[in-house]
Amino acid sequence: MTKYIIVGQGLAGTLLAYQMHKNNIPFKIIVDPIQKSASEIAAGLINPLVFKRLTKSWMADSLFPKMYETYNEMEELLSVKFIEQKKMIKPLVEQDIPMWQKRIDQGNMNHYIDRVDNDLRLEGYKAIEHYGSLNQTGACNLNIMIHAMRNFFKQHGYLIKEHLKVEDVTFEDKYVYWKNLSAEKIIFCRGYKDAQNALFPSDSFYLTKGELIEIEANALNEDYILNKNLFVLPTGQKRFKVGATYDWDTINESPTNEGKSDLLTKLDKLIDTDYTILNHWAGVRPTVKDRRPILGIHPHNKRLAIFNGLGTKGVMLAPYFSEQMLQLLENPQTQIDDEVKLDRFF
Ligand SMILES: Cc1cc2nc3c(=O)[nH]c(=O)nc-3n(C[C@H](O)[C@H](O)[C@H](O)COP(=O)(O)OP(=O)(O)OC[C@H]3O[C@@H](n4cnc5c(N)ncnc54)[C@H](O)[C@@H]3O)c2cc1C
Repeated sequence: MTKYIIVGQGLAGTLLAYQMHKNNIPFKIIVDPIQKSASEIAAGLINPLVFKRLTKSWMADSLFPKMYETYNEMEELLSVKFIEQKKMIKPLVEQDIPMWQKRIDQGNMNHYIDRVDNDLRLEGYKAIEHYGSLNQTGACNLNIMIHAMRNFFKQHGYLIKEHLKVEDVTFEDKYVYWKNLSAEKIIFCRGYKDAQNALFPSDSFYLTKGELIEIEANALNEDYILNKNLFVLPTGQKRFKVGATYDWDTINESPTNEGKSDLLTKLDKLIDTDYTILNHWAGVRPTVKDRRPILGIHPHNKRLAIFNGLGTKGVMLAPYFSEQMLQLLENPQTQIDDEVKLDRFF
């Protein structure tokens, strides 16, 4: 008997489990290590702005403090470093500059916009005529975080490495059962696999496949993240993650030649140095039709819950909403943001 069963140990399951551990709440977390996870291949980029209209990303002012606070706490708990702040450079065309200048003058985005300037020379990059530079950006190395947390969960007896079949879960008034385990609630955090979870409405997700590559480039600047039609993220030792593609039509985890050549064409417009391709990955983002996370207890089954829909910005969303999710589980009367409520799909 435990209190909660979490299914899935990507970003969503890991953060929710961390909140439970922190609050001394009993739980088990089930993960199928063979089942691919978007979190293990994601670049983990942190960017508070939407460049298209140069606006703040949804809820950025609330999400950012919670995000850095939570990941720093986890780093301390694990004695492992996985989050790094690094300035992001956004190359601009001349027509973009008035809008950037306007945002700086308005003042409410100065926390995120460092400056707008001209003529930047960075080792290995083509000359950048105009650019904006951003604060508060960086990346979370999710692969390191997820595996360090997996070891931690294992050491504390929380982890069950198995594939859970939804049809093996049974419900009674007081408990939910799976194999020889019983709990008060089960929470599904299976990323895009929950788009086909028979226990929840089937038309809430609008999944997005993404591909990215890893390169090694000895003469490429490692001090900044570059972002122009794609990102170039330094990850140390002259390695860089380059991505990502967006495909809403073919949903699978297979890297393609088209994806790779799309990334390389964009990369070659940006850089001016030799590189070697080390890896090429593909994954599926659990994106939702209205682009908001999904949190909630099933309206017709109080033993069943979901924490999902982290979409394209899981790193920013997971710390804040995992805390809200736990409050909701512990007290179903808790008021959460209407935009993220599971109820919106019923
Ligand atoms: C190419 C790409 C680039 C991305 N880049 C970024 C980025 O730069 N910044 C950012 O914030 N986000 C990025 N994302 C999005 C980010 O990856 C997601 O928001 C986040 O990882 C989703 O986490 P999740 O836990 O919901 O799902 P997942 O990470 O997919 O985790 C699902 C978990 O469920 C488990 N599971 C599934 N089925 C079962 C089963 N039957 N039994 C047991 N376990 C099961 C899996 O093993 C896994 O542990 C990117 C995604 C992709 C694909």
